[in-house]
Amino acid sequence: DVAMNVPDKQVESVCPYCGVGCQLTYNVKDNKILYVEGRDGPANHARLCVKGRYGFDYAQHPQRLTKPLIRREGVPKHGDFVMDPDHVMDVFREATWDEALALAAGKLRDIRDTHGKKALAGFGSAKGSNEEAYLFQKLVRTGFGSNNVDHCTRLCHASSVAALLEGIGSGAVSNPVMDVGQAEVAIIIGANPSVNHPVAASWIKNAVKNGTKLIVADPRRSDLARHAHRFLQFKPDTDVAMLNAMMNVIVTEGLVDEGFIADRTTGYEELKRNVEQFTPEAMAPICGIDAETLRYVARLYATSKASIILWGMGVSQHIHGTDNVRCLIALSLMTGQIGRPGTGLHPLRGQNNVQGASDAGLIPMMYPDYGRVDDPANQARFEALWNTKLDSTPGLTVVEIIHAIDRGEIRGMYIMGENPAMSDPDAEHAREALAALDHLVVQDIFLTETAYLADVILPASAFPEKTGTFTNTDRAVQLGRQALDPPGDARQDLWIIQQMARGMGLNWNYGDVSEVFDEMRRAMPSIAGITWERLQREHAVVYPCREEGDAGEPVIFVEDFPTKTGKARFVPADIIPAAEQPDAEYPVILITGRQLEHWHTGSMTRRAGVLDAIEPDPTVLVHPLDLAELGVEPGGLVTLESRRGTVTLYARADAGTPRGAVFVPFCYYEAAINKLTNAALDPFGKIPEFKFCAIRMRAGGEA
Ligand code: SF4
Repeated sequence: DVAMNVPDKQVESVCPYCGVGCQLTYNVKDNKILYVEGRDGPANHARLCVKGRYGFDYAQHPQRLTKPLIRREGVPKHGDFVMDPDHVMDVFREATWDEALALAAGKLRDIRDTHGKKALAGFGSAKGSNEEAYLFQKLVRTGFGSNNVDHCTRLCHASSVAALLEGIGSGAVSNPVMDVGQAEVAIIIGANPSVNHPVAASWIKNAVKNGTKLIVADPRRSDLARHAHRFLQFKPDTDVAMLNAMMNVIVTEGLVDEGFIADRTTGYEELKRNVEQFTPEAMAPICGIDAETLRYVARLYATSKASIILWGMGVSQHIHGTDNVRCLIALSLMTGQIGRPGTGLHPLRGQNNVQGASDAGLIPMMYPDYGRVDDPANQARFEALWNTKLDSTPGLTVVEIIHAIDRGEIRGMYIMGENPAMSDPDAEHAREALAALDHLVVQDIFLTETAYLADVILPASAFPEKTGTFTNTDRAVQLGRQALDPPGDARQDLWIIQQMARGMGLNWNYGDVSEVFDEMRRAMPSIAGITWERLQREHAVVYPCREEGDAGEPVIFVEDFPTKTGKARFVPADIIPAAEQPDAEYPVILITGRQLEHWHTGSMTRRAGVLDAIEPDPTVLVHPLDLAELGVEPGGLVTLESRRGTVTLYARADAGTPRGAVFVPFCYYEAAINKLTNAALDPFGKIPEFKFCAIRMRAGGEA
């Protein structure tokens, strides 16, 4: 019946998945999305990838939470997650909102009043809006009374942000992805945009067609490597060796931009001394790239009219992630490849609002707009704005909070829209810690692996069920608009956060979401010039936008850097090996990441019909020769084991995976690979080492 497929309304919004921030239109009928089309947004110009186009029916999935749930008395919190609906109702019972909120907030308040403010913590979400992130961190800071608030930026680009803030005074990108089209040379390192930022990858491929020389550097050969002018398949964990060798060439051959170094940087002499030892000949055996190729790429990058570097979690998710990024920053500074169109530094942000959630203060050491909480001037400004006393001690980060639960220091948590039982390293341990809390409140749209451990579950709104702003990887603040009503008794997240705040004794009374955005403008100078009306009219405005009427600045650092001196700073890096090295017992390297059709812990995409039909089962990518040595055919079962856990999955032969290593996506609850990963942290960004740990592999096992 054709009439059944004619939408009764169209709603302009943005994609709920990755940080590219594609604009789209929902075609809606009878409170259901029929189909999605791309819109002419600045990042996508009507393009969408498979997730943006087909990944929306999760919102109508029958497993949506539609009533508040309270854990039944005496049901223990342990064991593996079980999805059987009958089992779920043995664990939880339905409750009214009044009862659920009274219990959720009341017990958190009791813990705060009995054990102190630092006994509570909150995880917000990079998939929520800026307004939700802002209110969530404000609730933790003013209601819980500490800075124990974080979100999954800690698991993706925290090390990038640490290095960028230290080196150039800003954690965001210098130029939009589209600038690759104006670059002579583009280096993509530790990123697989064809899978993780597909529309951005399409622009990168267009740039290559138009003459940009693409250098892809990654231990795994991705689809984008086929388009590369040079592909550097360096050995896992050797980024610093390879990048320092390139800097050694640039220094030794006099390819530095002396004027830029003198006028706009500090610390060059120390960096220069440090890279002396990293000759291409000495580093080639370490990183696996021959000295001539290292020289060629270094020369190409340094001497082009415009060179840009984009990177992903292959760079950041190491215990030396901050050092990796320090090297990328130093490369761009020593060659003056920043501050102009087609140059610069672009950490490809993962989630659709991880940039915005960080900007809005959903991080434990900084207020909104990145003022440190231990700076008295910032503290005084926010105390005046929020009319309350604030704690000046930086809070704990994601993995630190899990460890603080072990020590009995954190006893109650409020988790909105995150799934640490799947996404945290050493996930068995993370689950045990979450289960050990006196009180856990989870706000989500599905019964996630984390919600399974909760005392109270608050049913929330899916992305198309609410209006708010989202900031993409290019620093564009974009408007996501409500297209559907939440199902049953599910409520919008902004409403739930406010009810929780009231339960904690705060007198909040925000009306429309735009009122929260207006408070954010007062708190955050970088977006002070962006009005709600302008967002409604233009759909996207790039920050910095300090005064109303400012156009916004897609390219920054043109004249100076936002540091105290206006200059950027070189920070040298030495080789630090991964925390857990392969050995005779555990001889294989485990690399984790994402795959095209699924998103993070899979709670949305595995409930999206088309996406789950394409990738229904957990797989491990293994080099065909390694697979043959194991005696396993592609499609056969393989069991992976680390010192922390075991999973069994289906083998997929992949010649792009280096020998001696395997790659596993982390979205499958049946084979939660983070049970195996290592919780060792980068000391600066506090990011775990998801890209390297030691495992062993054997044929067979039970699926
Ligand atoms: Fe969505 Fe990213 Fe795909 Fe664009 S590239 S449609 S933002 S997942």
